[in-house]
Amino acid sequence: MTVRFIQERLTPLDIAKGMDLTHLKRVRRAGQRTEEGHDIIDVVLCAESTLSKAALDDIVTQAVQSGIPISPRLEKVSRWPAYTMKQLAEFKVLWPVTLRKDSARSIKNPEKEAIEMRKYILQTIELTNQRNSTHSTDLPIAALLTDPRTSKVLLTAHDTRVSSGHPLQHAVMNLLTELPSLLPANQSAEVQLMSNDEEEQYYASMYDVYITHEPCTMCCMALVHSRVRRLIFWRGTARGARQLGWMKGDDLDGLLNHRYMCFEGIHGALGEDITVAELDDDVCA
Ligand SMILES: [Zn+2]
Repeated sequence: MTVRFIQERLTPLDIAKGMDLTHLKRVRRAGQRTEEGHDIIDVVLCAESTLSKAALDDIVTQAVQSGIPISPRLEKVSRWPAYTMKQLAEFKVLWPVTLRKDSARSIKNPEKEAIEMRKYILQTIELTNQRNSTHSTDLPIAALLTDPRTSKVLLTAHDTRVSSGHPLQHAVMNLLTELPSLLPANQSAEVQLMSNDEEEQYYASMYDVYITHEPCTMCCMALVHSRVRRLIFWRGTARGARQLGWMKGDDLDGLLNHRYMCFEGIHGALGEDITVAELDDDVCA
């Protein structure tokens, strides 16, 4: 009864405040008993920021009147779900968490996916070739966003830092700037964010990003914030994010709230004559 009350009344309030705690196991045994011999259990009610003190007092009163004596206290818990056994072991020290299977980080059909990746990386390279013939001042870096569920290209973008004079207009940044255009028409991004179902559309959690060159740290961090599913680039760069320890996922376990799979080149296509322009060593993509 207590858990149902929490799930129906408190969990939606948590989520509305951006504090999704559904990765936590709701109940744990406290290992103690009441004088009457009943087990005492610890239950996660909600995030501290979700309820005012007065609202919490109301809930305590209602619970006591319903025959459920509760005495709230603050407890530190993991803010993030565990996706690996290592995270699970570390996070559950605070409070039990569930292990989430991350289907976005597994490859079900390598051959089929490699064919698809090859197709889109070639399209991305073709984008730079087309643009380079008309905008030769800009760096020959292009990016593309696909929805792997429908095999459709949703967005494309180019690096425009030279032509715009804006130093942050890297291809990935320009691509992600267009994400809100994927929202259904006539509704603002702000409204959409209130709905869980639509949140996925604002964040790019089901989308893959292709780019001609290994992106810089800024772009990789922007991809983390956007929750992309995968990053696929064709050519490594001297100033790519790898040089700064990015993409060595294990080192960052637990530090970031999102990770994406990353691919360099495409198996089976490496031997082909597919070339992209080489960037100067002091240029980051
Ligand atoms: Zn960049």
